[in-house]
Amino acid sequence: MKRREFLQKGTLVGSTLLLNTKSLANPFMGKPKSVIIIGAGFSGLAAAKKLKEAGVSVTILESRNRIGGRVFSHKPEMGNGQVIEFGAEWVGNSHERIIQLCKDFGLELQNNQFETDLLLNESHFKQGQWSFSPEMEAFWKEKTALWEKISKAQKQKLDRMDWWRFLSMKGFSDRDIQLRELIDSTDFGESIRHTSAYAAYAEYAESSEKNEMDLKIKGGNATLAGKLAEVIGQDNILLNHTVLSINQVAKNEVTVNCENGKTFSAEKLICTVPTFSLLKINWNPVLPQITLDALHELQYARIGKFPIVFSQRFWEREDFDMVTDTPAHYFYNGTKNQAGTNGVLMCYAIGEKADTLASVSKKQRSEIILNALKPAFGDVKKYVKEELMYYWGQDKYSAGAYAFYGKDKWFDVMPTLKKPFKNVHFAGEHLADWQGFMEGAINSGEDAAQEISGY
Ligand SMILES: Cc1cc2nc3c(=O)[nH]c(=O)nc-3n(C[C@H](O)[C@H](O)[C@H](O)COP(=O)(O)OP(=O)(O)OC[C@H]3O[C@@H](n4cnc5c(N)ncnc54)[C@H](O)[C@@H]3O)c2cc1C
Repeated sequence: MKRREFLQKGTLVGSTLLLNTKSLANPFMGKPKSVIIIGAGFSGLAAAKKLKEAGVSVTILESRNRIGGRVFSHKPEMGNGQVIEFGAEWVGNSHERIIQLCKDFGLELQNNQFETDLLLNESHFKQGQWSFSPEMEAFWKEKTALWEKISKAQKQKLDRMDWWRFLSMKGFSDRDIQLRELIDSTDFGESIRHTSAYAAYAEYAESSEKNEMDLKIKGGNATLAGKLAEVIGQDNILLNHTVLSINQVAKNEVTVNCENGKTFSAEKLICTVPTFSLLKINWNPVLPQITLDALHELQYARIGKFPIVFSQRFWEREDFDMVTDTPAHYFYNGTKNQAGTNGVLMCYAIGEKADTLASVSKKQRSEIILNALKPAFGDVKKYVKEELMYYWGQDKYSAGAYAFYGKDKWFDVMPTLKKPFKNVHFAGEHLADWQGFMEGAINSGEDAAQEISGY
């Protein structure tokens, strides 16, 4: 049973009813004439597109001076027009909605899979030269079939355990667990010692073979944001509009005040902002205590991307990536499928490692990253053209890359945060089964639009 189906069964956990968002569909007599959407990330854009198709007037209010939110494609100055992703990178083969949207808009999805090298104890193992134990390989092969046999009650128990403990209890070797820590923590953005075993197992059981690291949109993932904005109408998306307060005192009306002094009213509102931003908004009336508690409980992963533009692609293989046991953590070719002799190697770090790389001096950061490449490639300093960094732990609006479901949160916090509050509905990647993905953001935005309009 998939996570989505699981939640849709409306399971009771303690006193909390797990709400099926679809069961809330159109609790209102008619569709509203106007809806305000806060946030022009994929969730807000997807919601707006759906509402527009239903004939509802939409206004998106967005803090940043760009659309896309955590989808953030960037052209490095020294990159000869190449595009890298500071935020979301991969589209998964199982991510049906985003694949469909790309198809609808004529956007090309290019293969962005990698074959992974390993750097452990300063020894470099090329892809194909290292592996897990036969026991771990066998478990990984069987994991989906095993998952399907686990009962609902057992799955809920798994949520109270971390992924590291689950693997340890299964008796895997220290080396296997160390490798799983290095690899799986890149997916969750924090150590697997903190990741819910349910969230981890569910994601891997339902993912494509490469854990949804399959495709990338040609020209950058932000091109999809641009296409969505065209359909919604650029005039309906107001940038540099930070919402400070949401007032729902009058019946069937919601009014918002923005930092720039502007005020907007509509019948309904969809709030797609990450919890960090949501807690900064003044709510009148105030949010229910159970919602506030859930907002405080949900953590976000610390991910930093530290790309380096090199004058040549010394890594040679276009499908090169490498997991390491160094603070630089993980490297991949950020310019796969892009023309040019130069290229960008993306250094991707999580948790404490990302925090450290972001806080040390530029010189120290450069040394840490280049030293991590030495066992595989020698000294590559001579090829460096530009060093960049985007640390999501310090992003002004999300203070993290994506929601991080630690122990005992999935079945409690998520359904609480999904509950509408008067005329306000909630969406965003943190509320989706494909949580942490663009697909999840799109699904949750479309679900919220459907709840409101019945369309
Ligand atoms: C480093 C990193 C790597 C990732 N890798 C992948 C990947 O490989 N594949 C994948 O599918 N996904 C990946 N993701 C996740 C993906 O980016 C997100 O799931 C998705 O983009 C979230 O969309 P959203 O609309 O829910 O939120 P957001 O994109 O955060 O949109 C919310 C918007 O609300 C705005 N906002 C906040 N507060 C206010 C306010 N008060 N008033 C007005 N506007 C406000 C914000 O500026 C933002 O634009 C990654 C994310 C990061 C950061």
